[in-house]
Amino acid sequence: MPKYVVLVTGGAGFIGSHLCRFLLSRNFKVICVDNLLTGSSGNIKDLRSNTDFSFISHDVSKPLEITGNVHFVLHFASPASPVDYAKLPIQTLKAGALGTHNLLGLAKAKKAVFLLASTSEVYGDPLVHPQPESYWGNVNPIGPRGVYDEAKRFAEAITMAYHKVHRIDTKIARIFNTFGPFMRKNDGRVVPNFIMQALANKPLTVYGDGKQTRSFCYISDLIDGVYKLMLSKVNEPVNLGNPEEYTILEFAKKIIKLTGSRKIIFKPLPVDDPKTRCPDISKAKKLLKWEPKVSVDEGLKRTIEWFRRN
Ligand code: NAD
Ligand code: UDP
Repeated sequence: MPKYVVLVTGGAGFIGSHLCRFLLSRNFKVICVDNLLTGSSGNIKDLRSNTDFSFISHDVSKPLEITGNVHFVLHFASPASPVDYAKLPIQTLKAGALGTHNLLGLAKAKKAVFLLASTSEVYGDPLVHPQPESYWGNVNPIGPRGVYDEAKRFAEAITMAYHKVHRIDTKIARIFNTFGPFMRKNDGRVVPNFIMQALANKPLTVYGDGKQTRSFCYISDLIDGVYKLMLSKVNEPVNLGNPEEYTILEFAKKIIKLTGSRKIIFKPLPVDDPKTRCPDISKAKKLLKWEPKVSVDEGLKRTIEWFRRN
């Protein structure tokens, strides 16, 4: 039987490379599209010898033509770390806006299922806690995070428009903070920052007073959720994340405990840093029968071990 073909944009990034590896293990053919803006060819080097895997070096903000069948288009290409999208504001807007438009066009031409990697950042600095999908968000469009948040909000809007007008089978995953092996060591996000600092016996840099909260999902759980969503009949946005919520100070202390490092220093809080973030995952539980299985502690142990070895 011919295999289903999945095109993964951003496939050389953190989440994308896990997705490519997982889909190959499930007998899909995978076309990975990436321009290596924030990803790395090292993340997919073990996949290169697999005959079901191919790599296309391409900027998704430019139109993409593919010969042959494509059954699923999974759009993950975009800078995702706040440090990255602050450095790459226009590329971030283009990946979310033009990139999503181009890939919806490809999905339309191929009659493929389209899945958008959206984000908890569509809720901005939320005034509702925890965040259900019905919450519309609180975003500063012209702040430093606006380039990412508004690109993803536009991406969601155009995805729903293609679903309604062109009847494309679309999915929207609102992904909350995810962590694990293959994160870039210097991408500036809290997990690689704290782990790299702890392993180098340097003080952990807590921004602000550390009372802001986040909820961290281990990568294997996230991939399981994305896969279930991709195969589901659900067209509405679905939150995917782990509702275990920590203040950043608690999180720093957790990493200190797991690594045996000691010190914390406080640095200024970045502008518009959301004060709280925690997913309401009732919808994913009900519609996808999905919930995270790996505890934050277990996920951190695995991630620390990977950072130690790589
Ligand atoms: P990442 O930076 O590790 O990966 C993004 C990948 O996209 C990189 O390989 C990069 O080179 C590629 N890319 C960027 N712009 C591109 C372009 N114009 N053309 C082709 N490729 C391009 O980030 P990640 O954490 O793996 O995030 C992947 C996706 O998931 C993003 O869309 C992000 O918004 C979304 N997401 C991630 C998280 C998280 O916690 N990691 C949370 C919410 C949403
Ligand atoms: N943060 C921190 N120290 C760091 C990096 C990040 O205290 O070295 C904080 C950051 O201010 C935010 C939280 O950790 O409150 C998560 O930051 P991250 O960049 O991982 O992603 P965000 O959830 O803000 O998109």
